[in-house]
Formats: sequence, C-alpha cells, structure tokens
Amino acid sequence: MLDALVIGAGPVGLACALEIQRRGLRVVIVEKGALVNSIIGYPTNMEFFSTPELLEIGGYPFPTSQYKPLREDALDYYQRVARAEKLELRLHERVLSLSGEQGSFTATTGLGEIQARNVVVATGFYDLPNLLNVPGEDLPHVSHYYKEPYQHAAQPVVVIGAKNSAAKAALQLTRAGASVTLLVRGPEISPSVKYWIRPDLLNRIAEGRITAHFNACVTAIHPDAVDITTPNGPLTVPARFVYALTGYHPDETLLGALGIEPDPNDVARAPLFDPTTQETTQPGVYVAGTVCGGRATSRWFIENGRHHAQLIAAHLAR
Ligand SMILES: Cc1cc2nc3c(=O)[nH]c(=O)nc-3n(C[C@H](O)[C@H](O)[C@H](O)COP(=O)(O)OP(=O)(O)OC[C@H]3O[C@@H](n4cnc5c(N)ncnc54)[C@H](O)[C@@H]3O)c2cc1C
Repeated sequence: MLDALVIGAGPVGLACALEIQRRGLRVVIVEKGALVNSIIGYPTNMEFFSTPELLEIGGYPFPTSQYKPLREDALDYYQRVARAEKLELRLHERVLSLSGEQGSFTATTGLGEIQARNVVVATGFYDLPNLLNVPGEDLPHVSHYYKEPYQHAAQPVVVIGAKNSAAKAALQLTRAGASVTLLVRGPEISPSVKYWIRPDLLNRIAEGRITAHFNACVTAIHPDAVDITTPNGPLTVPARFVYALTGYHPDETLLGALGIEPDPNDVARAPLFDPTTQETTQPGVYVAGTVCGGRATSRWFIENGRHHAQLIAAHLAR
C-alpha cells in the first residue's frame, strides 16, 4: 500500500511527490499523459511570464540563458528533477474514480487499480477548453490550443479572446505573415494582459496590421469564415483557421468522482480545502496547484501552487 498517490505529473504534482518522498513515505504519481503533459501542450518556444527561480521545485536551481525560461527549458527542467529524485511514475494512465477512505483508498484507472493511504489531486485545468457553444466549433480548422504560426502564413486567421494567450498568438501569427482578425467579447483587451505584451498588441491594432472587433459575439463558424454580431450589426469575417483561446477549466466531473466538494459560496466552484494543509472535506484527499482555484484558473499557478507541496508533505508525515 502506498502512503500517497499523486494524480497529475505537472510541476505541482512533481513538487508534491518529491516533498512526500523526501519525508520517507512511499509515493507514486499517476498521469494520464506524458511527464509534464500540460506544458508539452503549450505553444512552441513559449516564454514563461515568471523568472526561473519562481518556477523552481525541490530546491533545484533552474538555470536559463535568458531572463525568462521558454517552454522547452521548463520541460527539460521538470523532467530532470523527476529523474534526479527517482520519482515513481505511471504515465499514460488516467484516473477515473476513487473509492474507500483515508488509510485505504482505491483509485480506478484506465489500466487497473492503485491502493494508497492518501491521495493528492494535482490535475490542473488545461484539458477542458471553455467552449463558445456555437455551430461549427467542432470543424477541423478550429482549435482551442495554439502551437505555432508557420502553417498560417498568407492566410486569414481569426483569434478569439482578449487575454495573454490570445494576445501572444495574434502577435506571432501577424509577424509570421498571417492576416489576423481578433474577436474580443468585451470592450477592450484585458487589462490583465502582461504589461510588455498589451501595448505591442494595441499598437499593431492601431496601425491596422491586426483587425480587432470589440463587443463582438461569435454566432457561427464556417469552413472559410466566422459570423459575428457587433454593436454596428452582423459581420462575416474570413478565416481559414480559427483559434478560440477563451480559457480552460478543471474537470469537475473527475473532481466529483474523487469525492471533492466545490465551495458553494465560490462562483469559481473551487474545491473546499483547509489552506493550512490542503486537505479537502474528504479526510486523506488533498488538492494542489491550479485545480485549487476551480474555474478561477489564474488564482493558483506554478509560482504560488508549488508551495502546496510542503504543506501536504508536512501534514502526511506528522
Ligand atoms: C500559456 C501558459 C503560460 C503560463 N505561464 C506561467 C508562468 O509564467 N508562471 C506560472 O507560475 N504559471 C504559468 N502558467 C500556469 C501554469 O502553467 C499552470 O498553473 C501549471 O501548469 C499548474 O501546474 P499543475 O501541476 O497544478 O497543473 P498541470 O501542469 O496542468 O498538471 C496537471 C496534470 O494532471 C494530469 N491529469 C489531469 N487529469 C488526470 C487524470 N484523470 N488522471 C491522471 N492525470 C491527470 C494532466 O495530464 C497534467 O499533466 C501558464 C499557463 C499557460 C497555459
């Protein structure tokens, strides 16, 4: 029987496992994809907003040649830490449900069952996009994940969204020669867009290199165009590819199947947990990292979520 099962091999799941293991407890990480699967899905060469020391786990220095690490640096770093700590991993194995109680949990996975005294849920938020729920959203030229711009040179591309991911994608696509239309549901580019990205985007819009429609609502997506309504009436915008970068949310069905209750007083439906230990209302089940914020996915990120690991490990080793 394991002392702890950690679900999710993201930066925070890895931090939890290594802190638990360092306290002499036996821990396994089960991950439905690859090691640090969410970051593998981020855009190629994406630059983190955080400086490297704020992304470090387990006290391992994160050396980078630049001020901000790239996606590739982070993949290399977290995978090296997992190797250095000899963390026990079960990859490409999805957890489906959890039964039992503290001291004798059974996690059912796509490949079998795992027994553990305690369970740490660090499943993040990156698997389920916030859908537009419009006709055509399931067409093959529509994606909720942006990777890189090069396949879109000399093509009309629509980017939907007003936050960092949409802003960065619109800028990159424009610089790679795509003809970009940015569709923003609200009246402006989100003030939360990083201070070094927002003016760049506003200036590209002002000079006409990026067409932006504000207070725009997408009503349908076609193979070569997007229908929108605007304060000036309906419009059809040409698009050979559509990036709907409207955010993501945690898997609430999974959280329910793991016995984790949402806070009824929180509009974000964040799990109920004790902030001094990260333990949920189900004794022996802990939450860590981004999943702790529910639908408020920017409440917890690597910088602050990595500290959940010490709280949980200290509580397990008491
Ligand atoms: C483009 C982008 C840039 C970002 N930049 C920064 C930054 O500069 N600084 C910062 O601090 N944060 C940043 N973030 C946020 C940060 O990446 C996330 O907060 C971070 O990944 C959270 O780590 P985590 O371990 O909680 O979750 P994740 O990294 O999402 O890991 C969760 C893991 O759980 C796995 N999983 C899910 N369900 C199951 C299941 N049923 N069974 C088994 N495994 C499962 C997933 O496959 C995944 O590997 C950024 C996010 C994005 C999208």
